[in-house]
Amino acid sequence: MKGYSNNSTELSEPKNTWKQCLSFIKENVPPITYNTWFIPIKPISYKDNILKIQVPNSYFIEWIDEHYNTVINTTVKQILGENGKLVYIVLDNDEFQNEETIPEEVIEKPRAQIQKIQPEIRPDFESYLIPKYKFENFIKGEGNQLARAAAVAIAENSGGTSFNPFFIYGGVGLGKTHLIQAIGNKVIEKYPSKRVIYLSTEQFTVEFIDAIQSGKISEFSSFYKSMDVLIIDDIQFLIGKEKTQDHFFHLFNTLHQAGKQIILSSDKPPKDLKGLSERLISRFQWGLSADIQAPDFETRIAILKNKAESYGIFISPEIIEYIAFNITSNIRELEGCLIKLLAGASLNSQEINLELARKTVKEIATGRQVNISIDYITQIVCEYFEVDENKLREKNRKKEVVLARQIAMFLSKKLTKSSLKTIGLHFGGRDHSTVIHAYNNIDQMVSDDNSTKDIVDSIRNKIELGVS
Ligand code: ADP
Ligand code: MG
Repeated sequence: MKGYSNNSTELSEPKNTWKQCLSFIKENVPPITYNTWFIPIKPISYKDNILKIQVPNSYFIEWIDEHYNTVINTTVKQILGENGKLVYIVLDNDEFQNEETIPEEVIEKPRAQIQKIQPEIRPDFESYLIPKYKFENFIKGEGNQLARAAAVAIAENSGGTSFNPFFIYGGVGLGKTHLIQAIGNKVIEKYPSKRVIYLSTEQFTVEFIDAIQSGKISEFSSFYKSMDVLIIDDIQFLIGKEKTQDHFFHLFNTLHQAGKQIILSSDKPPKDLKGLSERLISRFQWGLSADIQAPDFETRIAILKNKAESYGIFISPEIIEYIAFNITSNIRELEGCLIKLLAGASLNSQEINLELARKTVKEIATGRQVNISIDYITQIVCEYFEVDENKLREKNRKKEVVLARQIAMFLSKKLTKSSLKTIGLHFGGRDHSTVIHAYNNIDQMVSDDNSTKDIVDSIRNKIELGVS
Protein backbone atom coordinates (compact mmCIF):
# COMPACT_ATOMS: atom_id res chain seq x y z
CA MET A 1 0.00 0.00 0.00
CA LYS A 2 2.79 2.40 0.89
CA GLY A 3 5.10 1.44 -1.91
CA TYR A 4 3.52 3.34 -4.72
CA SER A 5 3.86 6.89 -3.37
CA ASN A 6 7.61 6.52 -2.80
CA ASN A 7 8.43 5.62 -6.31
CA SER A 8 6.29 7.65 -8.61
CA THR A 9 8.52 7.54 -11.69
CA GLU A 10 8.40 3.81 -11.82
CA LEU A 11 4.72 3.79 -11.16
CA SER A 12 3.88 6.24 -13.87
CA GLU A 13 4.65 3.42 -16.22
CA PRO A 14 1.40 1.63 -16.97
CA LYS A 15 3.09 -1.76 -17.17
CA ASN A 16 4.52 -1.65 -13.69
CA THR A 17 1.34 -0.35 -12.18
CA TRP A 18 -0.74 -3.02 -13.84
CA LYS A 19 1.80 -5.60 -12.75
CA GLN A 20 1.28 -4.57 -9.16
CA CYS A 21 -2.47 -4.71 -9.61
CA LEU A 22 -2.12 -8.16 -11.12
CA SER A 23 -0.07 -9.52 -8.30
CA PHE A 24 -2.69 -8.29 -5.88
CA ILE A 25 -5.52 -9.76 -7.96
CA LYS A 26 -3.66 -13.04 -8.33
CA GLU A 27 -3.66 -13.48 -4.57
CA ASN A 28 -7.39 -13.01 -4.44
CA VAL A 29 -8.89 -14.99 -7.31
CA PRO A 30 -8.59 -18.63 -8.42
CA PRO A 31 -5.80 -19.31 -10.96
CA ILE A 32 -8.18 -20.20 -13.79
CA THR A 33 -10.03 -16.91 -13.37
CA TYR A 34 -6.77 -15.06 -13.24
CA ASN A 35 -5.50 -16.66 -16.44
CA THR A 36 -8.74 -16.37 -18.36
CA TRP A 37 -9.92 -12.93 -17.40
CA PHE A 38 -6.99 -10.89 -16.14
CA ILE A 39 -3.97 -12.05 -18.11
CA PRO A 40 -5.52 -10.92 -21.45
CA ILE A 41 -5.87 -7.37 -20.14
CA LYS A 42 -3.19 -4.96 -21.36
CA PRO A 43 -2.17 -1.74 -19.65
CA ILE A 44 -2.30 1.31 -21.92
CA SER A 45 -1.41 4.36 -19.87
CA TYR A 46 -1.11 5.61 -16.34
CA LYS A 47 -1.49 9.24 -15.48
CA ASP A 48 -2.93 11.19 -12.54
CA ASN A 49 -3.86 8.00 -10.72
CA ILE A 50 -5.84 6.83 -13.73
CA LEU A 51 -4.82 3.52 -15.16
CA LYS A 52 -6.20 2.72 -18.59
CA ILE A 53 -6.40 -0.93 -19.46
CA GLN A 54 -7.50 -2.59 -22.65
CA VAL A 55 -9.90 -5.54 -22.56
CA PRO A 56 -10.73 -7.75 -25.55
CA ASN A 57 -14.43 -6.96 -25.42
CA SER A 58 -17.07 -5.56 -23.14
CA TYR A 59 -18.10 -9.03 -22.15
CA PHE A 60 -14.91 -9.07 -20.07
CA ILE A 61 -16.01 -5.99 -18.19
CA GLU A 62 -19.42 -7.43 -17.54
CA TRP A 63 -17.98 -10.64 -16.26
CA ILE A 64 -15.26 -9.14 -14.12
CA ASP A 65 -17.71 -6.65 -12.75
CA GLU A 66 -20.24 -9.26 -11.88
CA HIS A 67 -17.85 -11.67 -10.23
CA TYR A 68 -14.86 -9.70 -9.02
CA ASN A 69 -16.17 -6.27 -8.26
CA THR A 70 -14.86 -6.26 -4.70
CA VAL A 71 -11.43 -7.49 -5.65
CA ILE A 72 -11.16 -4.82 -8.33
CA ASN A 73 -12.26 -2.04 -6.02
CA THR A 74 -9.81 -3.11 -3.34
CA THR A 75 -7.04 -3.39 -5.89
CA VAL A 76 -7.71 0.11 -7.15
CA LYS A 77 -7.61 1.49 -3.64
CA GLN A 78 -4.50 -0.43 -2.69
CA ILE A 79 -2.41 0.25 -5.74
CA LEU A 80 -3.75 3.46 -7.25
CA GLY A 81 -4.77 5.13 -4.02
CA GLU A 82 -8.05 6.58 -2.76
CA ASN A 83 -8.51 8.72 -5.87
CA GLY A 84 -7.40 6.01 -8.21
CA LYS A 85 -9.45 5.01 -11.19
CA LEU A 86 -9.37 2.15 -13.60
CA VAL A 87 -10.56 2.92 -17.10
CA TYR A 88 -11.46 0.05 -19.36
CA ILE A 89 -10.85 0.45 -23.04
CA VAL A 90 -12.83 -1.79 -25.33
CA LEU A 91 -11.62 -2.69 -28.76
CA ASP A 92 -13.34 -0.78 -31.48
CA ASN A 93 -15.05 -3.38 -33.58
CA ASP A 94 -16.52 -5.30 -30.73
CA GLU A 95 -20.21 -5.63 -31.36
CA PHE A 96 -20.98 -5.29 -27.67
CA GLN A 97 -19.32 -1.93 -27.39
CA ASN A 98 -22.45 -0.18 -28.43
CA GLU A 99 -23.09 1.62 -25.17
CA GLU A 100 -26.69 0.56 -25.02
CA THR A 101 -25.66 -3.01 -24.51
CA ILE A 102 -23.21 -2.30 -21.74
CA PRO A 103 -24.90 -2.39 -18.36
CA GLU A 104 -25.26 1.13 -17.09
CA GLU A 105 -23.70 0.40 -13.76
CA VAL A 106 -20.48 -0.49 -15.50
CA ILE A 107 -20.33 2.82 -17.29
CA GLU A 108 -21.31 4.81 -14.29
CA LYS A 109 -18.82 3.38 -11.89
CA PRO A 110 -16.05 5.90 -11.58
CA ARG A 111 -13.38 3.30 -12.08
CA ALA A 112 -14.95 1.84 -15.15
CA GLN A 113 -15.18 4.27 -17.98
CA ILE A 114 -15.31 2.95 -21.44
CA GLN A 115 -13.37 4.31 -24.35
CA LYS A 116 -12.97 3.15 -27.88
CA ILE A 117 -9.70 2.86 -29.66
CA GLN A 118 -8.44 0.92 -32.63
CA PRO A 119 -7.79 -2.68 -31.75
CA GLU A 120 -4.36 -4.16 -31.47
CA ILE A 121 -3.62 -7.45 -33.13
CA ARG A 122 -3.14 -9.81 -30.26
CA PRO A 123 -5.04 -12.96 -29.51
CA ASP A 124 -4.98 -13.72 -25.81
CA PHE A 125 -6.03 -17.35 -25.94
CA GLU A 126 -5.28 -20.38 -28.06
CA SER A 127 -7.59 -20.31 -31.08
CA TYR A 128 -6.42 -23.71 -32.40
CA LEU A 129 -6.50 -22.33 -35.92
CA ILE A 130 -3.94 -23.86 -38.22
CA PRO A 131 -2.66 -21.27 -40.70
CA LYS A 132 -2.17 -23.75 -43.56
CA TYR A 133 -5.94 -24.20 -43.90
CA LYS A 134 -6.83 -21.32 -46.21
CA PHE A 135 -9.42 -20.60 -48.90
CA GLU A 136 -6.54 -19.89 -51.25
CA ASN A 137 -5.41 -23.53 -51.23
CA PHE A 138 -8.88 -25.04 -51.10
CA ILE A 139 -9.65 -26.22 -54.61
CA LYS A 140 -13.12 -25.48 -55.88
CA GLY A 141 -15.09 -28.30 -57.42
CA GLU A 142 -18.64 -29.40 -58.01
CA GLY A 143 -18.71 -31.38 -54.78
CA ASN A 144 -17.84 -28.45 -52.55
CA GLN A 145 -19.17 -25.45 -54.45
CA LEU A 146 -22.04 -24.45 -52.17
CA ALA A 147 -20.16 -25.19 -48.96
CA ARG A 148 -17.19 -23.17 -50.13
CA ALA A 149 -19.23 -20.20 -51.34
CA ALA A 150 -21.17 -20.06 -48.06
CA ALA A 151 -17.93 -20.35 -46.10
CA VAL A 152 -16.43 -17.40 -47.97
CA ALA A 153 -19.58 -15.32 -47.39
CA ILE A 154 -19.50 -16.08 -43.67
CA ALA A 155 -15.83 -15.24 -43.38
CA GLU A 156 -16.52 -11.87 -44.98
CA ASN A 157 -19.44 -11.10 -42.69
CA SER A 158 -19.51 -13.47 -39.74
CA GLY A 159 -22.72 -13.40 -37.73
CA GLY A 160 -24.16 -10.97 -40.25
CA THR A 161 -25.47 -13.50 -42.74
CA SER A 162 -28.49 -15.70 -42.32
CA PHE A 163 -26.11 -18.65 -42.42
CA ASN A 164 -26.10 -19.03 -38.67
CA PRO A 165 -25.35 -21.67 -37.71
CA PHE A 166 -23.36 -22.79 -40.70
CA PHE A 167 -23.54 -26.58 -40.71
CA ILE A 168 -21.27 -28.45 -43.06
CA TYR A 169 -21.43 -32.21 -43.49
CA GLY A 170 -19.87 -34.98 -45.54
CA GLY A 171 -17.66 -38.06 -45.47
CA VAL A 172 -14.13 -38.39 -44.14
CA GLY A 173 -11.26 -36.60 -45.77
CA LEU A 174 -13.40 -34.37 -47.98
CA GLY A 175 -12.28 -31.03 -46.59
CA LYS A 176 -14.71 -30.17 -43.76
CA THR A 177 -12.00 -29.32 -41.28
CA HIS A 178 -10.05 -27.43 -43.94
CA LEU A 179 -13.04 -25.31 -44.83
CA ILE A 180 -14.22 -24.41 -41.32
CA GLN A 181 -10.64 -23.62 -40.30
CA ALA A 182 -10.31 -21.43 -43.39
CA ILE A 183 -13.30 -19.38 -42.23
CA GLY A 184 -11.65 -18.83 -38.85
CA ASN A 185 -8.34 -17.87 -40.42
CA LYS A 186 -10.01 -15.41 -42.78
CA VAL A 187 -12.02 -13.79 -39.98
CA ILE A 188 -8.94 -13.11 -37.85
CA GLU A 189 -7.03 -11.90 -40.88
CA LYS A 190 -9.76 -9.37 -41.67
CA TYR A 191 -10.80 -8.54 -38.12
CA PRO A 192 -7.83 -9.25 -35.88
CA SER A 193 -9.66 -8.41 -32.70
CA LYS A 194 -12.47 -10.90 -33.22
CA ARG A 195 -12.44 -13.77 -30.82
CA VAL A 196 -12.42 -16.94 -32.88
CA ILE A 197 -11.97 -20.43 -31.49
CA TYR A 198 -11.86 -23.84 -33.16
CA LEU A 199 -12.45 -27.02 -31.19
CA SER A 200 -13.12 -30.65 -31.87
CA THR A 201 -16.29 -31.89 -30.19
CA GLU A 202 -14.15 -34.24 -28.17
CA GLN A 203 -12.00 -31.39 -26.88
CA PHE A 204 -15.10 -29.40 -26.00
CA THR A 205 -16.57 -32.36 -24.10
CA VAL A 206 -13.41 -33.08 -22.18
CA GLU A 207 -13.05 -29.43 -21.18
CA PHE A 208 -16.67 -29.37 -20.14
CA ILE A 209 -16.31 -32.44 -17.93
CA ASP A 210 -13.10 -31.07 -16.43
CA ALA A 211 -14.87 -27.80 -15.69
CA ILE A 212 -17.67 -29.62 -13.92
CA GLN A 213 -15.30 -31.76 -11.92
CA SER A 214 -13.24 -28.80 -10.81
CA GLY A 215 -16.24 -26.57 -10.10
CA LYS A 216 -15.23 -24.14 -12.86
CA ILE A 217 -18.33 -24.36 -14.97
CA SER A 218 -19.16 -20.68 -14.86
CA GLU A 219 -15.66 -19.77 -16.08
CA PHE A 220 -15.99 -22.34 -18.83
CA SER A 221 -19.33 -20.92 -19.88
CA SER A 222 -18.26 -17.33 -19.78
CA PHE A 223 -15.17 -18.03 -21.81
CA TYR A 224 -17.07 -19.62 -24.67
CA LYS A 225 -19.82 -17.00 -24.48
CA SER A 226 -17.17 -14.35 -25.06
CA MET A 227 -16.44 -15.70 -28.55
CA ASP A 228 -17.42 -13.92 -31.75
CA VAL A 229 -16.99 -17.05 -33.83
CA LEU A 230 -17.28 -20.54 -32.36
CA ILE A 231 -16.20 -23.40 -34.62
CA ILE A 232 -16.87 -26.96 -33.50
CA ASP A 233 -15.72 -29.90 -35.61
CA ASP A 234 -17.36 -33.33 -35.82
CA ILE A 235 -20.43 -32.45 -33.79
CA GLN A 236 -21.79 -35.99 -34.31
CA PHE A 237 -19.65 -36.94 -31.32
CA LEU A 238 -22.09 -35.11 -29.05
CA ILE A 239 -24.38 -38.10 -29.47
CA GLY A 240 -24.73 -39.93 -26.19
CA LYS A 241 -23.33 -37.05 -24.16
CA GLU A 242 -26.50 -35.60 -22.70
CA LYS A 243 -24.96 -33.20 -20.23
CA THR A 244 -22.61 -31.72 -22.75
CA GLN A 245 -25.53 -31.40 -25.19
CA ASP A 246 -27.53 -29.49 -22.59
CA HIS A 247 -24.72 -27.12 -21.93
CA PHE A 248 -23.97 -26.67 -25.59
CA PHE A 249 -27.65 -25.90 -26.21
CA HIS A 250 -27.50 -22.93 -23.84
CA LEU A 251 -24.20 -21.74 -25.23
CA PHE A 252 -25.64 -21.98 -28.72
CA ASN A 253 -28.67 -19.88 -27.76
CA THR A 254 -26.64 -17.17 -26.08
CA LEU A 255 -24.24 -16.83 -28.97
CA HIS A 256 -26.96 -16.98 -31.59
CA GLN A 257 -29.04 -14.32 -29.87
CA ALA A 258 -26.04 -12.05 -29.66
CA GLY A 259 -25.49 -12.44 -33.40
CA LYS A 260 -22.26 -14.39 -32.93
CA GLN A 261 -21.34 -16.88 -35.62
CA ILE A 262 -21.56 -20.61 -34.96
CA ILE A 263 -19.91 -23.04 -37.37
CA LEU A 264 -20.33 -26.80 -37.10
CA SER A 265 -19.23 -29.84 -39.03
CA SER A 266 -20.58 -33.36 -38.99
CA ASP A 267 -20.44 -36.61 -40.89
CA LYS A 268 -24.21 -36.45 -41.56
CA PRO A 269 -26.92 -33.82 -41.99
CA PRO A 270 -28.66 -32.59 -38.81
CA LYS A 271 -31.81 -34.65 -39.31
CA ASP A 272 -29.78 -37.88 -39.37
CA LEU A 273 -28.03 -37.22 -36.08
CA LYS A 274 -30.05 -39.86 -34.25
CA GLY A 275 -29.48 -39.72 -30.55
CA LEU A 276 -28.93 -35.99 -30.47
CA SER A 277 -31.60 -34.02 -28.64
CA GLU A 278 -34.43 -32.78 -30.87
CA ARG A 279 -34.02 -29.18 -29.81
CA LEU A 280 -30.37 -29.21 -30.92
CA ILE A 281 -31.22 -30.83 -34.24
CA SER A 282 -33.85 -28.18 -34.87
CA ARG A 283 -31.44 -25.38 -34.06
CA PHE A 284 -28.81 -26.87 -36.34
CA GLN A 285 -31.35 -26.45 -39.12
CA TRP A 286 -31.92 -22.76 -38.45
CA GLY A 287 -29.11 -21.52 -40.61
CA LEU A 288 -27.54 -23.11 -43.65
CA SER A 289 -26.59 -26.77 -44.04
CA ALA A 290 -24.25 -27.53 -46.90
CA ASP A 291 -22.77 -30.86 -47.86
CA ILE A 292 -19.43 -31.74 -49.33
CA GLN A 293 -19.37 -34.55 -51.85
CA ALA A 294 -16.44 -36.59 -53.05
CA PRO A 295 -14.48 -34.66 -55.69
CA ASP A 296 -15.00 -35.49 -59.35
CA PHE A 297 -12.15 -36.54 -61.62
CA GLU A 298 -11.26 -33.00 -62.75
CA THR A 299 -11.23 -31.69 -59.20
CA ARG A 300 -9.02 -34.57 -58.10
CA ILE A 301 -6.56 -33.67 -60.84
CA ALA A 302 -6.61 -30.01 -59.83
CA ILE A 303 -6.01 -30.92 -56.19
CA LEU A 304 -3.10 -33.21 -57.07
CA LYS A 305 -1.49 -30.58 -59.32
CA ASN A 306 -1.88 -27.94 -56.66
CA LYS A 307 -0.41 -30.13 -53.92
CA ALA A 308 2.51 -31.29 -56.09
CA GLU A 309 3.27 -27.66 -56.82
CA SER A 310 3.15 -26.74 -53.17
CA TYR A 311 5.62 -29.53 -52.38
CA GLY A 312 7.83 -28.16 -55.14
CA ILE A 313 7.84 -31.31 -57.26
CA PHE A 314 6.96 -32.04 -60.83
CA ILE A 315 4.78 -35.02 -61.56
CA SER A 316 3.89 -35.86 -65.12
CA PRO A 317 0.24 -35.42 -66.21
CA GLU A 318 0.11 -39.13 -66.93
CA ILE A 319 0.92 -40.03 -63.33
CA ILE A 320 -1.41 -37.38 -61.94
CA GLU A 321 -4.20 -38.87 -64.01
CA TYR A 322 -3.33 -42.36 -62.91
CA ILE A 323 -3.62 -41.39 -59.24
CA ALA A 324 -6.78 -39.34 -59.78
CA PHE A 325 -8.36 -42.26 -61.57
CA ASN A 326 -7.57 -44.76 -58.85
CA ILE A 327 -8.05 -42.83 -55.65
CA THR A 328 -11.54 -41.46 -55.77
CA SER A 329 -13.29 -41.05 -52.50
CA ASN A 330 -11.03 -39.22 -50.13
CA ILE A 331 -8.82 -36.16 -50.51
CA ARG A 332 -6.69 -37.11 -47.56
CA GLU A 333 -5.74 -40.27 -49.45
CA LEU A 334 -4.85 -38.27 -52.57
CA GLU A 335 -2.53 -36.20 -50.47
CA GLY A 336 -1.14 -39.27 -48.73
CA CYS A 337 -0.41 -40.85 -52.08
CA LEU A 338 1.67 -37.88 -53.22
CA ILE A 339 3.65 -37.86 -49.99
CA LYS A 340 4.28 -41.60 -50.24
CA LEU A 341 5.41 -41.20 -53.85
CA LEU A 342 7.79 -38.47 -52.85
CA ALA A 343 9.18 -40.52 -49.99
CA GLY A 344 9.50 -43.62 -52.16
CA ALA A 345 11.30 -41.70 -54.88
CA SER A 346 13.78 -39.98 -52.61
CA LEU A 347 14.43 -43.04 -50.48
CA ASN A 348 15.50 -45.11 -53.46
CA SER A 349 16.77 -42.11 -55.43
CA GLN A 350 14.32 -43.17 -58.04
CA GLU A 351 12.38 -40.87 -60.30
CA ILE A 352 8.63 -40.65 -59.92
CA ASN A 353 7.46 -42.90 -62.72
CA LEU A 354 4.30 -44.77 -63.46
CA GLU A 355 5.62 -47.98 -61.96
CA LEU A 356 6.29 -46.33 -58.61
CA ALA A 357 2.87 -44.68 -58.79
CA ARG A 358 1.20 -48.06 -59.35
CA LYS A 359 2.98 -49.55 -56.39
CA THR A 360 2.05 -46.64 -54.17
CA VAL A 361 -1.61 -46.62 -55.15
CA LYS A 362 -1.78 -50.32 -54.44
CA GLU A 363 -0.22 -49.87 -51.01
CA ILE A 364 -2.77 -47.22 -50.18
CA ALA A 365 -5.67 -49.36 -51.31
CA THR A 366 -4.59 -52.35 -49.25
CA GLY A 367 -3.51 -50.40 -46.20
CA ARG A 368 -6.76 -48.48 -46.08
CA GLN A 369 -7.28 -47.89 -42.43
CA VAL A 370 -9.98 -49.92 -40.90
CA ASN A 371 -11.63 -47.66 -38.43
CA ILE A 372 -13.77 -49.24 -35.81
CA SER A 373 -15.73 -46.69 -33.83
CA ILE A 374 -17.11 -46.97 -30.32
CA ASP A 375 -20.54 -46.23 -31.76
CA TYR A 376 -20.25 -49.14 -34.16
CA ILE A 377 -19.15 -51.48 -31.39
CA THR A 378 -22.10 -50.33 -29.27
CA GLN A 379 -24.49 -50.96 -32.13
CA ILE A 380 -23.31 -54.53 -32.72
CA VAL A 381 -23.24 -55.39 -29.01
CA CYS A 382 -26.79 -54.07 -28.63
CA GLU A 383 -28.01 -56.02 -31.63
CA TYR A 384 -26.53 -59.15 -30.12
CA PHE A 385 -28.19 -58.68 -26.72
CA GLU A 386 -31.29 -57.10 -28.20
CA VAL A 387 -31.12 -54.13 -25.89
CA ASP A 388 -31.76 -50.51 -26.74
CA GLU A 389 -28.53 -48.53 -27.24
CA ASN A 390 -29.77 -45.75 -24.96
CA LYS A 391 -29.94 -48.20 -22.06
CA LEU A 392 -26.17 -48.52 -22.21
CA ARG A 393 -25.83 -44.80 -21.62
CA GLU A 394 -28.39 -44.66 -18.84
CA LYS A 395 -28.03 -45.81 -15.25
CA ASN A 396 -29.83 -49.06 -16.00
CA ARG A 397 -28.65 -51.88 -13.72
CA LYS A 398 -30.50 -54.81 -15.28
CA LYS A 399 -28.24 -57.80 -15.60
CA GLU A 400 -28.20 -58.07 -19.38
CA VAL A 401 -27.78 -54.31 -19.79
CA VAL A 402 -24.81 -54.29 -17.42
CA LEU A 403 -23.25 -57.20 -19.29
CA ALA A 404 -23.81 -55.57 -22.69
CA ARG A 405 -22.41 -52.26 -21.42
CA GLN A 406 -19.33 -53.93 -19.97
CA ILE A 407 -18.67 -55.95 -23.12
CA ALA A 408 -19.06 -52.82 -25.25
CA MET A 409 -16.57 -50.99 -23.04
CA PHE A 410 -14.18 -53.95 -23.10
CA LEU A 411 -14.26 -54.18 -26.90
CA SER A 412 -13.96 -50.40 -27.25
CA LYS A 413 -10.72 -50.59 -25.28
CA LYS A 414 -9.48 -53.57 -27.28
CA LEU A 415 -10.48 -52.46 -30.78
CA THR A 416 -10.10 -48.67 -30.81
CA LYS A 417 -7.35 -46.26 -29.86
CA SER A 418 -9.73 -44.27 -27.67
CA SER A 419 -8.69 -43.31 -24.16
CA LEU A 420 -10.53 -44.64 -21.10
CA LYS A 421 -11.93 -41.14 -20.62
CA THR A 422 -13.35 -41.04 -24.15
CA ILE A 423 -14.84 -44.49 -23.80
CA GLY A 424 -16.49 -43.46 -20.53
CA LEU A 425 -17.95 -40.41 -22.25
CA HIS A 426 -19.58 -42.56 -24.91
CA PHE A 427 -21.39 -44.52 -22.25
CA GLY A 428 -23.31 -41.69 -20.67
CA GLY A 429 -20.34 -39.82 -19.28
CA ARG A 430 -19.07 -42.57 -17.02
CA ASP A 431 -15.80 -42.22 -15.21
CA HIS A 432 -12.60 -43.83 -16.54
CA SER A 433 -12.43 -46.06 -13.45
CA THR A 434 -15.79 -47.56 -14.44
CA VAL A 435 -14.27 -48.47 -17.81
CA ILE A 436 -11.27 -50.10 -16.13
CA HIS A 437 -13.61 -52.04 -13.88
CA ALA A 438 -15.65 -53.23 -16.87
CA TYR A 439 -12.53 -54.19 -18.77
CA ASN A 440 -11.09 -56.21 -15.88
CA ASN A 441 -14.40 -57.88 -15.20
CA ILE A 442 -14.93 -59.06 -18.78
CA ASP A 443 -11.28 -60.02 -19.14
CA GLN A 444 -11.68 -62.24 -16.09
CA MET A 445 -14.96 -63.74 -17.29
CA VAL A 446 -13.50 -64.52 -20.73
CA SER A 447 -10.67 -66.52 -19.20
CA ASP A 448 -12.83 -68.21 -16.54
CA ASP A 449 -15.89 -69.08 -18.48
CA ASN A 450 -16.15 -70.49 -21.97
CA SER A 451 -19.67 -69.31 -22.68
CA THR A 452 -18.72 -65.67 -22.06
CA LYS A 453 -15.66 -66.20 -24.23
CA ASP A 454 -17.88 -67.47 -27.05
CA ILE A 455 -20.19 -64.48 -26.76
CA VAL A 456 -17.35 -61.98 -26.81
CA ASP A 457 -15.59 -63.77 -29.68
CA SER A 458 -18.68 -63.89 -31.81
CA ILE A 459 -19.47 -60.20 -31.25
CA ARG A 460 -15.89 -59.33 -32.04
CA ASN A 461 -15.98 -61.32 -35.27
CA LYS A 462 -19.14 -59.57 -36.28
CA ILE A 463 -17.59 -56.16 -35.63
CA GLU A 464 -14.43 -56.97 -37.55
CA LEU A 465 -16.31 -58.48 -40.45
CA GLY A 466 -18.62 -55.51 -40.68
CA VAL A 467 -15.89 -52.96 -41.21
CA SER A 468 -13.54 -54.77 -43.55
P1 ADP B 1 -12.48 -33.87 -43.23
O1 ADP B 1 -12.43 -32.91 -42.09
O2 ADP B 1 -13.70 -33.69 -44.07
O3 ADP B 1 -12.28 -35.29 -42.82
P2 ADP B 1 -10.04 -32.53 -44.02
O4 ADP B 1 -10.50 -31.11 -44.01
O5 ADP B 1 -9.20 -32.96 -42.89
O6 ADP B 1 -11.27 -33.51 -44.19
O7 ADP B 1 -9.29 -32.78 -45.39
C1 ADP B 1 -8.35 -33.81 -45.60
C2 ADP B 1 -7.15 -33.29 -46.34
O8 ADP B 1 -7.52 -32.97 -47.67
C3 ADP B 1 -6.60 -32.02 -45.73
O9 ADP B 1 -5.21 -32.05 -45.75
C4 ADP B 1 -7.14 -30.93 -46.63
O10 ADP B 1 -6.24 -29.82 -46.68
C5 ADP B 1 -7.23 -31.61 -47.96
N1 ADP B 1 -8.34 -31.08 -48.77
C6 ADP B 1 -9.65 -31.39 -48.63
N2 ADP B 1 -10.40 -30.76 -49.54
C7 ADP B 1 -9.55 -30.02 -50.28
C8 ADP B 1 -9.71 -29.13 -51.39
N3 ADP B 1 -10.91 -28.89 -51.95
N4 ADP B 1 -8.60 -28.54 -51.90
C9 ADP B 1 -7.40 -28.81 -51.38
N5 ADP B 1 -7.16 -29.62 -50.34
C10 ADP B 1 -8.23 -30.23 -49.79
MG1 MG C 1 -12.21 -33.29 -40.04
